[in-house]
Amino acid sequence: MARHGILIVLSGPSGTGKGTICKELLAQNENLHYSISATTRSARPGEVNGVNYWFVAPDEFRTMVEQDELLEWAEVYGNCYGTPRRWVSDMLWSGHDVVLEIDTQGAMQIKKKFPQGVFVFIIPPSLKELEDRIVKRGADSPAVIAKRLGCVQGELGFATQYDYAVVNDEVATATAKIAAIIVAEKCRMERN
Ligand code: 5GP
Repeated sequence: MARHGILIVLSGPSGTGKGTICKELLAQNENLHYSISATTRSARPGEVNGVNYWFVAPDEFRTMVEQDELLEWAEVYGNCYGTPRRWVSDMLWSGHDVVLEIDTQGAMQIKKKFPQGVFVFIIPPSLKELEDRIVKRGADSPAVIAKRLGCVQGELGFATQYDYAVVNDEVATATAKIAAIIVAEKCRMERN
């Protein structure tokens, strides 16, 4: 019988390794698809439009909001980010699983609209490790890094709103845990 796919929402502070875990999950699971968000942030070196994000101008983002094209959206670290509604719903209806890598504000909006989603919070092994990862990534200016680190405690406070928490002390282990969560949630769906 054809089934609706499952929606997996991954959040965690900047530098937690969500992106790396997400890539691993996608490489291991061909029925899982990544929702490409729209953002007003500038592309970092190596980022590609339509692969990492849809990079849009603030006006274009505003139009998307006004035309209700986004399933959720939020301002994060001074830029706007949002999830394209149509693509996500088409994928789920056609039986594909979808992963959203979004911040806690966006995840809470999804939880209201789509409580059957699977909400996973990724926790860094320590604050020191998190800071080292953001600095080592070399993608952001010192001011941006400070802004991101300043948000960590607030973001960690949302962990209890999620169905699961996974500590990313090792990417392979954290990925295996999330893959197991997906298998378990699909078995739960089989009952219905
Ligand atoms: P970055 O600029 O490092 O790529 O992302 C910054 C933050 O924005 C991360 O926490 C990321 O998960 C979040 N983010 C990315 N896409 C979306 C989205 O579509 N909606 C929301 N609410 N947050 C997003």
